[in-house]
Amino acid sequence: MTSVQVKIQSFDPARPAPGSATSPVAASCTPELAVSPWNFDAGAPAYGPGSSMEDVAPAETPRQGVIPEEYRLADDAELHERICHAKERLGNDLVVLGHFYQRDEVIEHADFVGDSFQLANAALTRQDAKYIVFCGVHFMAETADILSRDDQAVVLPNLAAGCSMADMADSSSVEECWEQLMELYADEVDDGRAAVVPVTYMNSSAALKSFVGRNGGIVCTSSNAATVLEWAFERGRRVLFFPDQHLGRNTAKAMGVPLEAMPMWNPRLPLGGNDEQALHAAQVILWHGFCSVHKRFTVEQIDDARARYPEANVIVHPESPMEVVDAADSSGSTDFIRKAVAAATEPSVFAIGTEINMVNRLADEYPQHTIFCLDPVICPCSTMYRIHPGYLAWVLEELVAGRIVNRITVDAATTEHAKTALQRMLDAKP
Ligand code: SF4
Repeated sequence: MTSVQVKIQSFDPARPAPGSATSPVAASCTPELAVSPWNFDAGAPAYGPGSSMEDVAPAETPRQGVIPEEYRLADDAELHERICHAKERLGNDLVVLGHFYQRDEVIEHADFVGDSFQLANAALTRQDAKYIVFCGVHFMAETADILSRDDQAVVLPNLAAGCSMADMADSSSVEECWEQLMELYADEVDDGRAAVVPVTYMNSSAALKSFVGRNGGIVCTSSNAATVLEWAFERGRRVLFFPDQHLGRNTAKAMGVPLEAMPMWNPRLPLGGNDEQALHAAQVILWHGFCSVHKRFTVEQIDDARARYPEANVIVHPESPMEVVDAADSSGSTDFIRKAVAAATEPSVFAIGTEINMVNRLADEYPQHTIFCLDPVICPCSTMYRIHPGYLAWVLEELVAGRIVNRITVDAATTEHAKTALQRMLDAKP
């Protein structure tokens, strides 16, 4: 697990990706990136500025509400001071977790930096902490609550920091899909295996992790998706994979599953928009979900990077579309990308397809390399972007005052089955 080195740097939406030759000043995906996130917390549920801004937030998306004016008016330096002071007051009672995709001025306060599962596990190493402040998105805080003790409180600084991909698979749609599939497969010859094994990506609600736990399924991350699919194929004739179609497709394709055996399930259509024959022949049924950050990467961007830097090592996240993964030199989780850069002993060029905050941080950490984001239009994850230092200062000062705000709790029954699904994943490790 990486310890954070303190470095004060404000997010600058106009900052060009290092090595970008397309424009001296890269454009941002929306001018609203310059606007503070609380301007979006008073209105209807929405993901706010950034790359998932155009996705529709479900009506039940948690609302944050506007935080006190003193936090909204404070400048970066004051917020930095207040966060440091509150952390000092809370001492070992507090652990702050920061996802790779968070902005730098939040990451500098994190005790641990990593991907969602690394962070949930990092929290387990801090059994003395009464408060786990998760600077990430909602499903991550839920996972931390599932894995932590009952007397540890998990806090999400901005309740509206959800994940548009996770929201694309809601429990009622998945339950409905499951019922249709069970009915369809009821007549199949029993060969001792389940007709279908549900697999959910870590980027899903606790309710869905619980659903797969109850139905003989398992959770996966972008690091272990192939291992998890192997586990599922040993136990079932086919897999229902949600919410990210791209991770499912890229992983199954690399394992030799033909594309025609991977129908897509559109929850708005009967049988997901498929005919019965296609579903009987299916090996992996892909849910119609995607990450709005990673779907922005294109083969043209890779061609452009290679034209500018023929020696470039192109690495993309497997949430990217299949054509992009196929055109890249390699694909892997955020941890895979970090390790690939760290392992380069000679000055190298890396063209990376993942979230901009992480790419910029790698570029700063490894100045001997030329590291840039494939997408020349700077566009951070909207939902991660909602964790502004103002919210972090607010939740920490409330904790100092003895009040827990924005606590994320998962009920006991959901926790029990979600833990089963997570444990199966841990046990499936090669
Ligand atoms: S980067 Fe994509 S998957 Fe990750 S939190 Fe943002 S929208 Fe969700």
